[in-house]
Amino acid sequence: MNLDFGPQEQAFRAEVAHWLTNHVPVGSLPSVDTAAGFAWHREWEAELADARLAAVSWPAEYGGRGASLLEWLIFEEEYHTAGAPVRVGQNGLFVLAPTLFMHGTAEQRARILPKMARAEEVWAQAWSEPEAGSDLAAIRSRAVRSDGGWLLSGQKTWSSRAVFADRAFGLFRSDPKAERHRGMTYLMFDLRADGVTVRPIPQLDGEPGFAEIFLDNVFVPDADVIGAAGDGWRVAMSSAGHERGLALRSPGRFTAAAARLIELWQQEGDPSDTALAERVADAWIGARAYQLAGYQIASQPDSARFAGAGPAGAELGAAGPAGAQSSLGKVYWSELDLALHETALAILGSLAEVRHPQPPGGGRWLDGYLFALAGPIYAGTNEIQRTIIAERVLGLPRSA
Ligand SMILES: Cc1cc2nc3c(=O)[nH]c(=O)nc-3n(C[C@H](O)[C@H](O)[C@H](O)COP(=O)(O)OP(=O)(O)OC[C@H]3O[C@@H](n4cnc5c(N)ncnc54)[C@H](O)[C@@H]3O)c2cc1C
Repeated sequence: MNLDFGPQEQAFRAEVAHWLTNHVPVGSLPSVDTAAGFAWHREWEAELADARLAAVSWPAEYGGRGASLLEWLIFEEEYHTAGAPVRVGQNGLFVLAPTLFMHGTAEQRARILPKMARAEEVWAQAWSEPEAGSDLAAIRSRAVRSDGGWLLSGQKTWSSRAVFADRAFGLFRSDPKAERHRGMTYLMFDLRADGVTVRPIPQLDGEPGFAEIFLDNVFVPDADVIGAAGDGWRVAMSSAGHERGLALRSPGRFTAAAARLIELWQQEGDPSDTALAERVADAWIGARAYQLAGYQIASQPDSARFAGAGPAGAELGAAGPAGAQSSLGKVYWSELDLALHETALAILGSLAEVRHPQPPGGGRWLDGYLFALAGPIYAGTNEIQRTIIAERVLGLPRSA
């Protein structure tokens, strides 16, 4: 087995690294959860798109460069190693786009993807409802048939950055009489359309990172249905596979954090604390293992078949076993992220609470830790993922 990269991958890595070195801003940036920060990050996305680096695995016609899954993993490694800005378009790029490649029409892809790549249109995910989180099939928001389209009504919640986003994708009950996993339709809608009210939910730090979305007879044309009407659950499970698997949280994010953790240990660690040294080593090994698992997926014979389908195409987020396997990845990366950050805080001790951008960068690790705490919740809680793994990957008997 040859684990080295070929000349094409090496040249690609060098190009990406060179571009990032010359473009990634130095110093702290405005938070993406504020109006000013969101606007700044849109401009960053446009800069990436100008270099055809916003969505490297997409076909050129949509703004990508037809990169292989392996090259996409390399891009992600370089992106995170460079400490490049958070991707404001992540819900669109890593959740909606792969769904459109698998279930959308050519017209939808041509209309939506180029604007998504430039962040001219930023997408929010409108799935959760007050009574439907883990039990997503309990959604009550409705889509009622109307002339040439649908009228949407109901309430969505916890929609990340929906206050600033332009459009949203979500699930709606289109046939109230059907069995609960059927009779749902997957629709896209404009967050500024008549009948839409977006109300910010401030986070603990006061920034409006979440929003509730209220819909009151919002008209959506048939052209904005993804997949067939009534087939929304199957399409949603495809999106969920991308959100939980490699796409949203690629290995590069964790290998970069592990490298920073090693540096932190070398600068601030107490060499006599062998227990902590082992935690540092474990976290690094965990990140490396996730990286190798990513390479393994990218090296499978059928990965090329899905390269154009976006980064997580090879994982196929359908309701079958491959989709269920993305739950393994989700539990893995979310727990790894926590372990990495908890270890950093243990090294820093009381310095962890000091907001200082220079090394040892206590505040940065603390912010990362606070976000890592959400990892076992978003994209489907880890309790739910463990049930999926037990029943659909391991084939254990279903719980009553
Ligand atoms: C940072 C972040 C970003 C988010 N962004 C979005 C977004 O953009 N769009 C969106 O639609 N949603 C978003 N969410 C919401 C997220 O999808 C939900 O929080 C999640 O699905 C859990 O739903 P819930 O909060 O209603 O908790 P509940 O479903 O009420 O669960 C509460 C607890 O009970 C446990 N539990 C529930 N049912 C079971 C069961 N059957 N077996 C075992 N344990 C169970 C859960 O694991 C959890 O610990 C986001 C959440 C976070 C934290």
